[in-house]
Amino acid sequence: MFLPQEVIRRKREGEALSEQEIRSFIEGVTDNSVSEGQIGALAMAVYFQGMNIDERIALTCAMRDSGEVMDWSSDHLPGPILDKHSTGGVGDVVSLMLGPMIAACGGFVPMISGRGLGHTGGTLDKLDSIPGYTTSASELLFRKVVKETGVAIVGQTGELAPADKRIYGVRDVTATVESIAMITASILSKKLAEGLDALVMDVKVGSGAFMPTFEQSVELAQSIVLVANGAGVKTTALLTDMNQCLASSAGNAVEVREAVQFLTGKYRNERLLEITMAQSAELLVSGGLAGGIEQAREKLQSVLDNGRAAEIFGKMVHGLGGPSDFVEHYDRYLPGAAIIKPVFIEAEGYLAAMDTREVGMAVVQLGGGRKVASDTIDYGVGFTDICRLGDRIDPSKPIAMLHASSEASWNRAADMFRGALSFAEQMPQPHYLVYKQP
Ligand code: URA
Repeated sequence: MFLPQEVIRRKREGEALSEQEIRSFIEGVTDNSVSEGQIGALAMAVYFQGMNIDERIALTCAMRDSGEVMDWSSDHLPGPILDKHSTGGVGDVVSLMLGPMIAACGGFVPMISGRGLGHTGGTLDKLDSIPGYTTSASELLFRKVVKETGVAIVGQTGELAPADKRIYGVRDVTATVESIAMITASILSKKLAEGLDALVMDVKVGSGAFMPTFEQSVELAQSIVLVANGAGVKTTALLTDMNQCLASSAGNAVEVREAVQFLTGKYRNERLLEITMAQSAELLVSGGLAGGIEQAREKLQSVLDNGRAAEIFGKMVHGLGGPSDFVEHYDRYLPGAAIIKPVFIEAEGYLAAMDTREVGMAVVQLGGGRKVASDTIDYGVGFTDICRLGDRIDPSKPIAMLHASSEASWNRAADMFRGALSFAEQMPQPHYLVYKQP
């Protein structure tokens, strides 16, 4: 007989739970026969006692199976189903390029993305800045665009992993979010419900990362790789740098603009290029579309050079309701801001550190992110031409262009941005872009 309190007691005592116990508990979460108090108690027990890899796999699979699990077999797609997930950052617009690049190399990318969370931007919010683009596509439209274009990036279609939604809501208010076992299951239950063949996980490291220390980022990456592979999806992870904004811009429309310019070759920030290439190459190899990383990089470079990736991005945008000439005329369509002015700083020296979390909060302050879930977003605001670590700064050089809707919010965001920067007399040692793989 299944008794939730017995499962909680055993975990409280540090015992390993069986697959059946975990599955029954999650079924109870899904059908509401397990109470919020019991979810909170189990979450706290897991927080303190942890879970071994087998328990994490069982938890992930049970949560994945709590809702719809997509099955692509009847579509007979002529390539593997691939996706990536990032723990989130500032100026992390990689998905908008990686999806079309992978599709141009023969993969199929049914990417179900999320909204901004705290200081981190969300892929869905970025895409919502494109007029007509529907991030709330029906499953039918989502499947059609994936099939015909090779990539579609949307929000949840059916009820993916509803158990996670309930558990996450309880974790959020019981101080139990910071558990590697539960973060692993939460992230993977939603991703694995997409019916993937392979996944690449981007775990951020540094001042704008979700995990507070390098060691914890490594631990999360290792956990995700072991659990996802244990659940049958070929998965690798990269630890990538979030000690400064990844792109040259941070916001919504401004990041979409940078993504299009990246795809068409008009402007490519080198850090963004390297991290996009590194993740895309991992995925091509895992999906069997390239024999090794070097070959994968060559393929990816050629779909950037021959315009195929940009073309696919344009088709995806149009397929999901956006303008048919978006890639050619993005500036006609993307919303702008009333005030666009350079920011200066009374400081001299090399830019040595950026509190990237604070830069993300400056975007939220401008209205480009949400303070509470019900907030509406101002898509046109944000930063562009953001300075980089190692830049020589003086009071005559702008540290960024700031796009705001009013003078007051411009001033507040400018102060936050200036306060996020530290300077040194000596050129700082550069951070790795991609840290050693876990
Ligand atoms: N993101 C998720 O989806 N779940 C977590 O638990 C943490 C981050």
